[in-house]
Amino acid sequence: MQITTLILGAGAAGMMCAAQAGPGTLVVDHAKRPGEKIRISGGGRCNFTNLYTEPANFLGQNPHFHKSALSRYTQWDFIDLVARHGIAYHEKTLGQLFCDGKSTQIIEMLRAEMAQAGADLWLDCTIAEVDHDGTHFTATLDHAGTRKTITAQNLVLATGGKSIPKMGATGLAYDLAKRFGHAVTETRPALVPLTFSDQRFAALSGTAAPARVSNARTGFDEAVLFTHRGLSGPAILQISSYWRDGEEIEIDLCPVGDLLDALKAQRHTQGRRNLTTELGHHLPTRLVDYLAQELELKGNLADQSDAALTRITDHLRHWRLKPTGSEGYRTAEVTLGGIDTNGVSSKTMMSKNVPGLFAIGEAMDVTGWLGGYNFQWAWSSGWAAGTAIRNGA
Ligand SMILES: Cc1cc2nc3c(=O)[nH]c(=O)nc-3n(C[C@H](O)[C@H](O)[C@H](O)COP(=O)(O)OP(=O)(O)OC[C@H]3O[C@@H](n4cnc5c(N)ncnc54)[C@H](O)[C@@H]3O)c2cc1C
Repeated sequence: MQITTLILGAGAAGMMCAAQAGPGTLVVDHAKRPGEKIRISGGGRCNFTNLYTEPANFLGQNPHFHKSALSRYTQWDFIDLVARHGIAYHEKTLGQLFCDGKSTQIIEMLRAEMAQAGADLWLDCTIAEVDHDGTHFTATLDHAGTRKTITAQNLVLATGGKSIPKMGATGLAYDLAKRFGHAVTETRPALVPLTFSDQRFAALSGTAAPARVSNARTGFDEAVLFTHRGLSGPAILQISSYWRDGEEIEIDLCPVGDLLDALKAQRHTQGRRNLTTELGHHLPTRLVDYLAQELELKGNLADQSDAALTRITDHLRHWRLKPTGSEGYRTAEVTLGGIDTNGVSSKTMMSKNVPGLFAIGEAMDVTGWLGGYNFQWAWSSGWAAGTAIRNGA
């Protein structure tokens, strides 16, 4: 069977690419349903983009690579598409847009766009072999009980990263990219909870607090969630993308206002109030109980000298912790690193070495922050490749 374009992976990027590439396009996936990560994303409501998307919200060895695709197919373009399909949505927080209904609406929208463009989809399809003879790509596929050989002018690598292998994530895109002479940067789990081997926060499990979490590279003002195995919540997931094994993170548990001034003022007017009771006005009670043991907090406010209050607030505002690891690809939302962008055109997503070979989405060394940015990258890069293919790149 001869086709124009074979897309490996019916995820967010692959489906968006197929919707642009047009007739003669076949998308194949080993899963039973397309867009499984879209389905489970955002707690089932899919945080499909972010109003404030800009290049600074992405990590990668080349901080400029993603600019072109993000500016040619923007968050506003995707919002238009969602609105044209009558999908209701809302901003939850920090520009994050979610469906009012189910995330499957986004999958249905992409399937409808693919059908309109004349693209085919084979699910439950095993990719046995992929080759290139210098002009064409040949793929050997096992689908619907038979082995099929497909010859295509274009091959799009859209099988995503390694996160959540249980959902079918594989390193196929990296393996094929390497086979075609591309470099792949070091890959690591990102947007992932951090763990402590001594399970020191087990008693606090389920407690959340607003905080600023930072390291030498950057910082995020969002919630921290204490878990049985360590730390999670948006601020931790965000910093995990910038964290390396063996490094410390710093947590400011009172990022708003001046805690020291507040405690001194209360000491003046409420001197007989217990110190931990007062801290309970600023932090969750269970967290205060935990810190009371760690910092040996006792006595009334009036018992605390300026030096003692300074020591306590310094600790709460600069709580330095060294995680022992992360939850890994088992729960990571994305994979940091991937196909080296230096080998790919930032305009078309086409390989600079092998004409007709494209790479898009999470498989590439472009990783977004938490908050809809990773899907926006999938839409923008998928659109760039699909449009280039339609225009005969
Ligand atoms: C739990 C969770 C929640 C998330 N929530 C959000 C969110 O709300 N907002 C956001 O922006 N991002 C979110 N993300 C990240 C987002 O899902 C990914 O960045 C995005 O799906 C990447 O799109 P992709 O098309 O590149 O890859 P994927 O969506 O992973 O698609 C890859 C496809 O390739 C297929 N495939 C893989 N290997 C093979 C193989 N060997 N043979 C055949 N097929 C193969 C897979 O089955 C899959 O269908 C979330 C991720 C997770 C895990």
